[in-house]
Amino acid sequence: KLHNTILELKGNIRVFCRVRPLLQDNDSSGAEEALISYPTSVESAGRGIDLMNQGQRFSFSYDKVFDHGASQEDVFVEMSQLVQSALDGYKVCIFAYGQTGSGKTYTMMGPPGRDQKGIIPRSLEQIFKTSQSLESQGWKYSMQASMLEIYNETIRDFSADVTSLLAKASQSRSVGRTQMNEQSSRSHFVFTLKISGSNENTGQQVQGVLNLIDLAGSERLAKSGSTGDRLKETQAINKSLSALSDVIFAIAKGDDHVPFRNSKLTYLLQPCLGGDSKTLMFVNISPEASSVGETICSLRFASRVN
Ligand code: ADP
Ligand code: MG
Repeated sequence: KLHNTILELKGNIRVFCRVRPLLQDNDSSGAEEALISYPTSVESAGRGIDLMNQGQRFSFSYDKVFDHGASQEDVFVEMSQLVQSALDGYKVCIFAYGQTGSGKTYTMMGPPGRDQKGIIPRSLEQIFKTSQSLESQGWKYSMQASMLEIYNETIRDFSADVTSLLAKASQSRSVGRTQMNEQSSRSHFVFTLKISGSNENTGQQVQGVLNLIDLAGSERLAKSGSTGDRLKETQAINKSLSALSDVIFAIAKGDDHVPFRNSKLTYLLQPCLGGDSKTLMFVNISPEASSVGETICSLRFASRVN
């Protein structure tokens, strides 16, 4: 209890868990489902998740747990205030963590088509709508978007495309989905919206940032089986994901020294982590029995940062 309170005060770090449904496609239909259950006691309802592995029960709890039935809307409702706070001048980071295929890109972007938009298009829509409605109170906002990929500790900038993405977003269409989906699950994607607002009536100024990050797949590849480029990729991913957890853990504990410089990802996000910034991490998990080992690793990772 005390530990949790300290985390809330120091870090503004929240963790949401989302379980994707079993997929209906040919590849995985008939896949055996893991034994996942959700405690219903008053303290843990909506926050707990239990799963069985080889006869042993593993229990975890987070700020929120979304079962396989949760819609994109259900998820966004729980975070729209956090997104909104970027307009009030906060620095916000929202991460999706999990093994490849667990639903990170679905959560952040949504599937192809317009129906099930994910967090990025919904956030942009909300920010555009709200910033427009605040004009009547004298607020003027300017926004700058960028999109980066970090692969093997090297940053690639996609920002040239982002202006048109933003134009699309403001017309309430989905953004960058194809681009993100087609990229390898071996890189991190960082979408950043910088927001500057000034109020001509009051002279108030705000500078907020919204970072939306689709992390590389967290699965542990067998070290013996990986060689060459694959091994290098895996080492780079492991390094950056553990650097991220070290940073969030240090911030949550209130450490004086936060090791931002250990990876490109944490170095890039340094201005938006810690202090009075706000961080939300999704841990996305797959429901298949064959994934239980990875799922437990992901849930443990998320417990460490929570
Ligand atoms: P990741 O980005 O973690 O590798 P994806 O987001 O690509 O995983 O999801 C893998 C597959 O599962 C995709 O076909 C995606 O459409 C589907 N999927 C993921 N989450 C959901 C969900 N909540 N509801 C329905 N389908 C989902
Ligand atoms: Mg993906």
